[in-house]
Amino acid sequence: MIYIQKEDLPTASFALDARLYAGQGWLSLVREAMVVIGSSPIHAIREDAGLLRIELGRPTPEQSETIKEIQKRSAQVCEICGEQGSLRFEGLKNGQPAGWHRTRCDEHVDTRTDDLRGKIKAKSWLAVCQDAGDGNGDLLVYLPPDLLAEMGWQAGDTLDFNVLANGTITLSKLGAEKAGESS
Ligand SMILES: [Zn+2]
Repeated sequence: MIYIQKEDLPTASFALDARLYAGQGWLSLVREAMVVIGSSPIHAIREDAGLLRIELGRPTPEQSETIKEIQKRSAQVCEICGEQGSLRFEGLKNGQPAGWHRTRCDEHVDTRTDDLRGKIKAKSWLAVCQDAGDGNGDLLVYLPPDLLAEMGWQAGDTLDFNVLANGTITLSKLGAEKAGESS
């Protein structure tokens, strides 16, 4: 499960700081809303108190009305898979629904969307290749300290270097015993 992405809505315009934190299960609802949204910039497509929220900068009355109606229907659509769902929460507090609110089918009752946030927001760093200066054309890549800290790598570690068919290079740290073998 991932959040609805800008690419899922190719005709939409987004505000620069648009926030997209709504599960893919609601994509068809959002696409339905696009009929009235048109090219109005979208500020947020998110989950709020278990329901879908679509926010525009300055919605027309017609846009507001349609979006409100679609948001209401999200209470019956599983945010994860789009199947029939219901709004769930953790008991009552002072007679009011309390705790984690989410709209889910029976299968996805406990599936969280925020667990997946880290996977989607992959971090990236920029590293510049430098000539090693030894005359044989080798390049040195200095890995930024933030990256090293994040990965738990340090000087002396052995990194495995792989070039994939699509040109992507992967670096992974070899385990202590394996690194010992290769040296
Ligand atoms: Zn579901």
